[in-house]
Amino acid sequence: MSTDTTQSSTHSPHAVANIGVVGLAVMGSNLARNLASREGNTVAVYNRSPERTRTLTTEHPEAGFVASETIKDFVASLSKPRTAIIMVQAGAGTDAVIDQLASLFEPGDIIVDGGNALFTDTIRREKAVSARGIHFVGAGISGGEEGALTGPSIMPGGTVESYKTLGPILSSIAAVVDGVPCVTHVGTDGAGHFVKMVHNGIEYADMQLIAEAYDLLRNAGGLTPAEISEVFAEWNRGELESYLIEITAEVLKQVDAKTDKPFVDIVMDAAGQKGTGTWTVEAALDLGIPVSGIAEAVFARGLSSHPEQRAAARAVGLPGPAHSWNIEDKAAFIEDVRLALYASKIVAYSQGFDLIVAGAEKYGWDIRKGDIAMIWRGGCIIRAQFLNHITEAYRENPGLVALITAPYFTEAVARAQESWRRVVAGAAQAGIPSPGFSSSLAYYDGLRADRLPAALIQGQRDFFGAHTYGRVDAPGVFHTLWSGNRTEVELS
Ligand code: NAP
Repeated sequence: MSTDTTQSSTHSPHAVANIGVVGLAVMGSNLARNLASREGNTVAVYNRSPERTRTLTTEHPEAGFVASETIKDFVASLSKPRTAIIMVQAGAGTDAVIDQLASLFEPGDIIVDGGNALFTDTIRREKAVSARGIHFVGAGISGGEEGALTGPSIMPGGTVESYKTLGPILSSIAAVVDGVPCVTHVGTDGAGHFVKMVHNGIEYADMQLIAEAYDLLRNAGGLTPAEISEVFAEWNRGELESYLIEITAEVLKQVDAKTDKPFVDIVMDAAGQKGTGTWTVEAALDLGIPVSGIAEAVFARGLSSHPEQRAAARAVGLPGPAHSWNIEDKAAFIEDVRLALYASKIVAYSQGFDLIVAGAEKYGWDIRKGDIAMIWRGGCIIRAQFLNHITEAYRENPGLVALITAPYFTEAVARAQESWRRVVAGAAQAGIPSPGFSSSLAYYDGLRADRLPAALIQGQRDFFGAHTYGRVDAPGVFHTLWSGNRTEVELS
């Protein structure tokens, strides 16, 4: 809370605010209110259309906002180093506000983009803004409207120097778990938005896996949504404990007031997306990292959103299996599904961290993986106790090659794998789609394999395109003269 509420006015050119927010739609307003509620902060606010600013200051006089109706006054109301968080529409809106602030800010001041920017845009913006001596921080802010108001998980990039000013401010508003604020300096330039993007990709995978577990319990296990709600509530008391499992139990419990049907049955089965899942997969493709769990989740939403194709498939009667899944021991089946979910979840997180490692390497970010898991424990959608094990794994071995090879996760998948196989095989035989479970298992088996059929692919590539290959028994690069006498030549 501001110590000087008399500063709340519609015009204040005095430099009294230690932090400012530009963009006062739902996210910006909530973030500004959160900032203002913390001791030591005086918050300047500005929005392109002044009506939003007036509404916010009128509805929240307790916040002591220093409100401005021009960007010039807003900048004048900030103490040095001027620090402003932009919470406007991603894309052109963000660029417009950055330009305005950069033309009025001075070297050493700090512009923070708290929106959902693509990390490559953040890298571009950081380059342009820092050329003027102004710090530019791309900060991923997770947790939606509620998190912005009560405590989000925050993933800031930018310079170490800017974090000295920004860190304490962001720490004051972040979610807190076990006394630790859910914010850390992720790395330079686009690192924060990159990690936020991967967070969202993992969120897609987590949601898809939970949805597949529900589908199996319902369509193979014969449980009702209300019964499945109880199962999820029970799972939330064990190693699957997480916000997403908790809200799944709530959604499945809901009954539609109009029809008395389970809520889940009156909702159209076409999942929407805003694009961060796609960004994650695109980045992974670019970096050559198999994030198959995340990709399947994005594609599954895509499949769900083409009702015309599904209708056409049903119309031609694409055949399914002749027999349904005969489950004799329901309790054992439920436990199998729980373990398949847990193992698939471990794969999704392991792949997500592989992507973070690859991004850090390509873009030169010094990302502490354990700290990332720690700041996801609160304030964001994938918050879960499970993340403590990731922090622990990287603390014990910062150079861990794959998260899944850490002792805790190896033990967990070893315990789960027989169940996982039964579920994936049963789902395939029963014709129940489980792209997340099955692709995660395939990835797991790929990791374990002594020899992959990639050797044959290398042979094919060398045959049709002279793409060369390496030998298992000698260093160097080789090519076989496939259209000649089929002898091998060493190229280097
Ligand atoms: P929004 O609907 O994305 O954007 C509306 C705000 O942008 C308004 O304040 C609007 O000003 C401003 N704006 C748009 N174009 C502008 C321009 N050219 N110049 C100046 N201002 C401009 O708002 P939101 O939903 O609160 O989201 C804000 C940011 O947070 C976005 O980047 C969004 O992606 C991100 N977000 C994050 C989460 C999350 O969970 N992390 C959730 C939702 C949103 P006017 O009032 O003048 O039109």
